[in-house]
Amino acid sequence: MTKFLQDLDGKNLINGAWVGADTGETVSVIDPATLNELGHIPNCGARETEMAISAADAAFGTWSKTDTLYRTGLLHKLHDCLMDHQEALAELLTLEQGKPLAEARGEIAIGAAYIRWFAEEIRRLKGEIIPAPLGQNRFLTTYHPIGVVGAITPWNFPSSMLARKLGPALAAGCTVVAKPSSLTPYSGLVWGKLCQDVGFPDGVVNIITGSARTIGETIMGHARVRKVTFTGSTEVGKTLIRQSAETVKKLSMELGGNAPFIVFDDADLDKAIQGALISKYRNMGQTCVCTNRFYVQDGIHDRFVTRLNEISKNLKLGNGLEDGVDQGPLINDSAVAKVEEIIADAVAKGGTIEVGGQRQQSKGTFFEPTVITGAHKDMLCATEEIFGPVSVVFKFKDEDEVIEAANATEFGLASYVYTNDLNRAFRMNNALEYGMIGINSGLITTVEAPFGGLKESGIGKEGGSQGLTDYLSLKYTCIGM
Ligand code: NAP
Repeated sequence: MTKFLQDLDGKNLINGAWVGADTGETVSVIDPATLNELGHIPNCGARETEMAISAADAAFGTWSKTDTLYRTGLLHKLHDCLMDHQEALAELLTLEQGKPLAEARGEIAIGAAYIRWFAEEIRRLKGEIIPAPLGQNRFLTTYHPIGVVGAITPWNFPSSMLARKLGPALAAGCTVVAKPSSLTPYSGLVWGKLCQDVGFPDGVVNIITGSARTIGETIMGHARVRKVTFTGSTEVGKTLIRQSAETVKKLSMELGGNAPFIVFDDADLDKAIQGALISKYRNMGQTCVCTNRFYVQDGIHDRFVTRLNEISKNLKLGNGLEDGVDQGPLINDSAVAKVEEIIADAVAKGGTIEVGGQRQQSKGTFFEPTVITGAHKDMLCATEEIFGPVSVVFKFKDEDEVIEAANATEFGLASYVYTNDLNRAFRMNNALEYGMIGINSGLITTVEAPFGGLKESGIGKEGGSQGLTDYLSLKYTCIGM
């Protein structure tokens, strides 16, 4: 049992103190692989959220004025501390989330990389001097920390999604009130412990758990919270956008996806299969950038399906803590029910199950990697985020047809294209209405590049230089001469 679990059980971090909910109420946390109870977290509400916001607001007064070098020094220490504890943090993540340990180690490493990236990026932040059209006036633009940040994160990447928010916020000089998902709270709470261990002052990072709706409403309604950064479903994102109107907050919204994965006849089949494996089955298909729809051109379709069937069949299911496991459990019974609904709908509408299709009848919420062919636009899988290990394959004839089909969704997060034709690659770059496009690459996330969606997949970017400026206010100053 990872040592962090004992340290964190039953406690939230508010103004440097580890405390329970005022009412003493708790919520239990379940290991999805065994359905055993891992522990309890405080069921906090409006009062504790207000206390956390007040603490963050008071700390902002001094934290926002600290030297950049001091903040980058602390962030570098935080990076090193994460990597020193990579194994224990990865175990904690697998225990509550289910993903295989190797993937959990990767998530801790990329989270640490975000912290280091923003520690470096703040030192490269520059305003502008704009040439005056007449006379000697000087026009300047300067960046300033935006204020208290509210951060709400999901269960599928409970560690790295918070890293993308804490990194830029702390580098910029902002203070934070974070709310991790109740399903995977410990990987969020542990950031508070590590921040304390490396010397972040009290009140700079506050982490609370409990009633999502109440905590969310309190954060959204509070005038001192100047920015909210949310990763989660489009449905909840829209609620938060509406709630932000009263106090006109700056928002970053990383929402749902419906990624197309397009394989043209001229593609390198080996590369396409490698990309399919990683973009479909990572985290058991529960990533926002997961392939949702495979579109395969008729000349390569059958060969692609044969290989996709093979790799899907060979994935080993089991407890993520065990060696050699490729696929852990889904997060809970609702996730299994959603996958079953998508499969039943596809079969009822003429789809063929090539591989899998069943829940594993052991304890836990395991689901077999599944391949369905003969998919078409009237199936649920064409429009809904599957969020599970189900590959659905649509056959297409030509480029115009696949562009129209790929864009026929309100989402616009990730997309993938496999082709060896450079002209076609650039045509697809122009035509696809997606914030991220992987050409011959199924793994596109990197700290250096702006991660984010178009359309109803979100607002703003995480990572890259854009991920920092989202936490800053831009001021323009006119100096008359
Ligand atoms: P979710 O249900 O929207 O929950 C996300 C977070 O919001 C959780 O902390 C949740 O708390 C909280 N929440 C729920 N209702 C709320 C409310 N009314 N007010 C304030 N907060 C509320 O999403 P999820 O199921 O955890 O995550 C899966 C979704 O996230 C998928 O749609 C996926 O595509 C998306 N996602 C997007 C990205 C991206 O970068 N674009 C990355 C990862 C995931 P509780 O868990 O405590 O209820």
